[in-house]
Amino acid sequence: MKPDIVYYEPSVFSYPLGKQLKTKFADVPWIPIENHNNIETLRRNPNTAFPQMKRHLIVGVRKSLRFVPNHKVSDFLVPYTSSGCSAMCLYCYLVCSYNKCAYLRLFVNREEMMDNLIRTAARAEKELVFEIGSNSDLVLENTITGNLPWTIHAFTESPKGRLTFPTKFDMVEPLLPLEHKGRVIVRMSINPPSIIQKIELGTSPLERRIQAMNLLCDAGYPVGMLLAPIILTDNWRALYADLINRLADELSEKVKAQLFIEIIFMTYSYVHRAINSEAFPNAVDLYDPSQMTGRGRGKYCYRDPLRAEGESYLRELLSKKLPGVPILYVV
Ligand code: SF4
Repeated sequence: MKPDIVYYEPSVFSYPLGKQLKTKFADVPWIPIENHNNIETLRRNPNTAFPQMKRHLIVGVRKSLRFVPNHKVSDFLVPYTSSGCSAMCLYCYLVCSYNKCAYLRLFVNREEMMDNLIRTAARAEKELVFEIGSNSDLVLENTITGNLPWTIHAFTESPKGRLTFPTKFDMVEPLLPLEHKGRVIVRMSINPPSIIQKIELGTSPLERRIQAMNLLCDAGYPVGMLLAPIILTDNWRALYADLINRLADELSEKVKAQLFIEIIFMTYSYVHRAINSEAFPNAVDLYDPSQMTGRGRGKYCYRDPLRAEGESYLRELLSKKLPGVPILYVV
């Protein structure tokens, strides 16, 4: 990603990464801001400016380092080196938090964040797993910052703990030669090609995601797979059957032997509808009132009978095509 404008908090130049980014993007305008959380000129933009705003880069210092307990594949969700993203998945969960300001924000105080992680891991009685990618896509972020090799090196020098993050991107080459000690779990998010193409705008194609999983596993990383989000479009049964057949054919035996799966059904919201209808008027409309029901605070999810049908269909396919691969949870 090459940003068109960088908005920055002046204090970022006290950190090595802030200086490095300034050099890297010296040829685009840098506009000072008081606070990365509230850039008034951007907040006031119309919804139609959403794709244009995704080309901006915001560079700041992360203030809150609070860990949130989690009970899925990690023990804690950890605020880490970025939030937001330059891709434009039409259902992106970050839009619920940041509205149209879901652009990529980079936080340059990575040393403080790493210190916090290492100290928390060391204090714990058990081996903790930290989810560091719940606010952005770290593989995409890494193409700008190089933060992942830095993170993996710094964290695995410490004695305890594991890291994990999900991704929809395939640019994993910089991770392959690293000494990760098996303490970094990469979870690839997967969807049928037509959903990737029409809905997960700006992310990597399916074949490259599958290839990245095979490469990561060959390099010794534990690899997981998110079937996420499950989107019940008109021909969803055929789409997901083709997808699972393809995974069975193209994932290496090594990946399958250690794989685990998470299944997440799509949730959507009033905010998505408002932004997508104005910013992407020709895109697929993901809101279908005959399939969806309100889930509080302007959110929608699939109605229970349809969701149950989807779950049993997927479980059956997976048990036939990827037998023995555990499904950790379905939400
Ligand atoms: Fe959001 Fe992830 Fe898509 Fe980026 S890749 S837009 S973070 S869902």
